Amino acid sequence: MTDENSRALYDRALSVMPGGVNSAVRAAIEPYPFFVQKGDGGHVIDADGNRYIDWVMGLGPLLLGHSLPEQVQAAIQKQASAGPMYGTPTEIEVDLAEFVVRHVPSVEKIRFVNSGTEATVSAVRLARGYTGRNKIVVMQGGYHGAQESTLVEGDAENPAPSSAGVPQSFAEHTLPVPFNDEAAVREVFDEHGDDIAAVLTEPILANYGIVHPEDGYHEFLREITAEHGSLLIFDEVITGFRVGGLGCAQSELGVTPDLTTFGKIIGGGFPVGAIGGRAEIIESFAPSGPVFQAGTFSGHPVTMAAGLETLQFAAENDVYDHVNDLGEQLRSGLTDIVADQAPSYTVTGTDSMFKVIFTRDGPGPDSLEEQCKTGCRQNPTCPRYDYCPKNSADVKNAETERWRRIFWGKMKAQDVFLSQNQFECQFVSYNHTEADVETTLEAYKNAL
Ligand SMILES: *Cc1c(COP(=O)(O)O)cnc(C)c1O
Repeated sequence: MTDENSRALYDRALSVMPGGVNSAVRAAIEPYPFFVQKGDGGHVIDADGNRYIDWVMGLGPLLLGHSLPEQVQAAIQKQASAGPMYGTPTEIEVDLAEFVVRHVPSVEKIRFVNSGTEATVSAVRLARGYTGRNKIVVMQGGYHGAQESTLVEGDAENPAPSSAGVPQSFAEHTLPVPFNDEAAVREVFDEHGDDIAAVLTEPILANYGIVHPEDGYHEFLREITAEHGSLLIFDEVITGFRVGGLGCAQSELGVTPDLTTFGKIIGGGFPVGAIGGRAEIIESFAPSGPVFQAGTFSGHPVTMAAGLETLQFAAENDVYDHVNDLGEQLRSGLTDIVADQAPSYTVTGTDSMFKVIFTRDGPGPDSLEEQCKTGCRQNPTCPRYDYCPKNSADVKNAETERWRRIFWGKMKAQDVFLSQNQFECQFVSYNHTEADVETTLEAYKNAL
């Protein structure tokens, strides 16, 4: 396996781009990331001609994989050749909006934007504008894009910017609490209840090792927000149209948020974001309401075509059965391998997401009989229950250096491309095959 072309490209990139990349996480690969020449099914081929089984899938957007079905490709090409965009509405925006409203129960109206970040920025502004309140509650280790209101760390008593360039005075409006911790949420509502515009959370922490909610946690959030006149915002940028199929994670969990942010899959591989929810709240966006929101590229016809055709293809074919079935094969295979070779580690994920977190705390359970078989579900009767990550502090405590410096490279050497660090999730696509799963499990067996 040579990497001369990737190295030469990275050398050039370092001269003209900060860290040689356009998104920070891409540089996490050491000593340098490989450059992709093209995708092929569930695989990518790098600039030196090496082929990898790709479980990164663009970090989430590629539900169908790299080789798009003919009807999806044709729709994208037709839109592109009609002229890229116009600055005035097109039919395809209405088509995609209708599709989402039809399939996601909490969404009565929707506005499209251009990234997940833009979606959460707009959702936070909307929640503040609608409620007339300033503060938002977020989960430690949750990710909502590169935006001022959520690049905040610490706790509700001492919130602090997690990035240079975010003023402390902005961070003070954000109250970070641990995921799965009802008492911590109760405390911030006791203290600041009248000034909390919204609780903003991923339904499943999917950017931090994948942490499943405990039974009843989201029902609790639903209740306490309603009680205090605050909004519940689900950030489904990753889980939307991935977990729970076309109904999204909220339908699987059976909890109805006031607002939902979308991104990734909803644009079929093109830049996208969206804010959906109760009509009365979404109507607060300009021009129907006082909360300003606009975008030159919003509702871009090529993106809308890619998103709509992708979701329609999923509605008419066995896409979710296929990806969820392979996801389950991966997680149950990994559960066996981990039990055998690294019993303190935790297999996580659901539907078509999977990850092994290198947890190491405590002596571990006496027996792995009766443990969750296809990824941690925070099941209190599971013998691993006390050892599985419940929040970001637990994930952070895992062996990130071993993951990054030893394990990732061992997988790459076996032609398996995993996400760039211990925290990012991995995804199954419609193009992946059982052979990809078998090869990958074999590689884990060698690398763990
Ligand atoms: C990826 C992601 C975002 C940010 O989306 P971008 O398109 O990268 O701006 C926001 N929230 C969640 C949950 C995400 O996974």
